[in-house]
Amino acid sequence: MKLDKLLEYQKLDIGLRRITLELEKSDDAKKIEVAKQEFAIAKKAIEDSEKNALSLVEFFGELEKNYQEVGKKIDKLIDQIEKQEKELEKKPDKTSEFEKSINELAALKSEAASIENKIADQKSKGDETIQKYKAASDRAKKVRDFHAKAKERLDILQKTKDPEIKAIKTSLKKLEPQIDEIFMTQYKTITSEGKYPAFVEAHLDGKNFSCKGCGMSLSQTGSSALISQSYTSCESCRRIVYTLGKIASN
Ligand SMILES: [Zn+2]
Repeated sequence: MKLDKLLEYQKLDIGLRRITLELEKSDDAKKIEVAKQEFAIAKKAIEDSEKNALSLVEFFGELEKNYQEVGKKIDKLIDQIEKQEKELEKKPDKTSEFEKSINELAALKSEAASIENKIADQKSKGDETIQKYKAASDRAKKVRDFHAKAKERLDILQKTKDPEIKAIKTSLKKLEPQIDEIFMTQYKTITSEGKYPAFVEAHLDGKNFSCKGCGMSLSQTGSSALISQSYTSCESCRRIVYTLGKIASN
């Protein structure tokens, strides 16, 4: 039973993780994340203004159609009123029909005025939408530039780390076949949960062993296993707890 290769592997792997984290937590990596979020916001604003513009155009078209229809009705009514006026000269008893047409005309004119107001309102909404669209496009462009610059710097940083990363990965690959498969599997399972280190030395306080990973004491069974085989699984955090003394003698 040899843990030394696993521990060697773990040391290298932690070094690799440190570099990866350094890259992930670098200012430029953070900037890239912020840029991605900002870009999503700007994109949403652009899409919203486009949708808004489409519905404005549609509504505007409808209003214009209504306005034209009302205009036609007004023209027709005016012709009718003119005729009625002439008829009135001959037959003065037709006053009520004439008045009815005049009232209708007033109603149509007020309808036309209301449509005109709505058209003016749509136009100002349209201007507002265009402004929002422009602002969002400008923002998106700025964010894209900001992202590109941060990405460029991060790539440079990444390149400086590449040889070291490559060297560590090569060593890890070489070590892996020399490690007990069970240990390797346990190592990968524990680290996949973000627990580093996965293999920790046992802490001995008087007669009690505890896990250096989570600080919890080992049970009687755990301690016995640790003593007999020089390693055991921590009952609290599932890390592998080992004693170096026995491993050295194995
Ligand atoms: Zn533990």
